[in-house]
Amino acid sequence: MDDIPVEKIIRSRRRSIALVITPDGNLIVRAPLKAPAAMINKFVNEKRSWIQKKFKEIKQRPAATVHEYVEGETFFYLGRAYPLHIVESGNNPIERADRLCVCRTLLPDIRHRLKCWYMQEAQREIYTRCMWFLMTTGYTPESIRITDARQRWGSCTSTGGLNFSWRLIQAPLEIVDYVIVHELVHLRQPDHSKKFWSKVEEIMPDYERRREWLRENERLLRI
Ligand SMILES: [Zn+2]
Repeated sequence: MDDIPVEKIIRSRRRSIALVITPDGNLIVRAPLKAPAAMINKFVNEKRSWIQKKFKEIKQRPAATVHEYVEGETFFYLGRAYPLHIVESGNNPIERADRLCVCRTLLPDIRHRLKCWYMQEAQREIYTRCMWFLMTTGYTPESIRITDARQRWGSCTSTGGLNFSWRLIQAPLEIVDYVIVHELVHLRQPDHSKKFWSKVEEIMPDYERRREWLRENERLLRI
């Protein structure tokens, strides 16, 4: 596997070897505690074409956006692009109109202030969408929280709580809906088995298209 760089090998009490490609395009191998190096090498070698395909896919994705918080810069909200507009004064320090208007007084702290704003908006929008799906599906989480997660759009805790990254609010509403449905179904089906996906499909027949969008737009998670 000379030409396949392994970033890290994580050993744990597991039975099989698994490969994980991080959003940055690093290969991580998960292996049983006592798996010999030769066995791991062989496994990686056998998966060579899959790994190379994944590496290629990641290279073709748009790079992560690094914001500079300057006039005209694009910010996403529910899938729509809003140019940043610095204003001298306004009714609210941050206001979403045809542009994302931010008062000049916030500039020294703009990164933090915009994040707080996104979190607040995410709380409202995601909560409202959750309520809709709770009513229509009968699934009932213990709690719904908005987090600062950078690695995942949503998660389901072992105690039946749902977490969503505020970064999800950058995505179109139909994508927000998919993540909500995905996590809701985890309340009853914690794995990603066939049974899990068929339950997702029952609620959302076109989920695959939405899932693909998320895969291609992972960079939004890193903002
Ligand atoms: Zn899942």
